[in-house]
Amino acid sequence: MMSIGERIEELRRQVPAGVRLVAVSKTHPAEAVREAMAAGQAVFGENRPQEMAAKHTAIPEGVEWHMIGHLQRNKVRMIMPFVSMVESVDSARLLDTIEAEAARIGRRVDVLLEVRIADEDTKSGWEEGELRMWLDQGLWREYTHVVFRGVMGVATNTDDRRKVRAEFIRLRAIFESLGKEYFGAGFDTLSMGMTSDWRLAVECGSTMVRIGSLIFGDREYK
Ligand SMILES: *Cc1c(COP(=O)(O)O)cnc(C)c1O
Repeated sequence: MMSIGERIEELRRQVPAGVRLVAVSKTHPAEAVREAMAAGQAVFGENRPQEMAAKHTAIPEGVEWHMIGHLQRNKVRMIMPFVSMVESVDSARLLDTIEAEAARIGRRVDVLLEVRIADEDTKSGWEEGELRMWLDQGLWREYTHVVFRGVMGVATNTDDRRKVRAEFIRLRAIFESLGKEYFGAGFDTLSMGMTSDWRLAVECGSTMVRIGSLIFGDREYK
């Protein structure tokens, strides 16, 4: 069996230059993160604030932590001192909280707008129309500590590759038009693709893939 480090190295050979690899370490111990770091990996994704904070305490230096799971507003404060990017921003209220907390501690924080592209009800994220309506209101222009870097999406969990491809192509179109209409050049990150669909996502223009089980093996708890 390949080690975590070998799997990271293998992936690095396959992921094109210009596509960032986020190693999704959720459910795996800090030791697994250290192993990946030894192979040169520096960006890690977590979906639970407590777990991320605990790993940050265990590994305070050298890691860029990305929040990729639904973030409750009352948990923002827990991760704001160290989180590099919140990829899973799915509401205006959450943005207000991130702005307030980041301002309070004098940080700027990168965010991605999570857009719903899958047809499963369980997947979170903005509906495109709802997001555009909110952007048109322009309140986001007042933020001085939130930095809008792009969009994130999770495709439907299906073997139907045509469906997944169509969802990725749609997310890319949304990414490009939001960049053009609202945000400009700093809006440069299209986070899409996981273990089962990252190659397809890269073909469709992904600039950031979030890969967990392919690197760390099966998750240790749900
Ligand atoms: C868990 C998770 C991933 C990684 O999933 P794998 O299939 O293990 O690669 C990527 N993105 C999000 C939003 C996740 O919750």
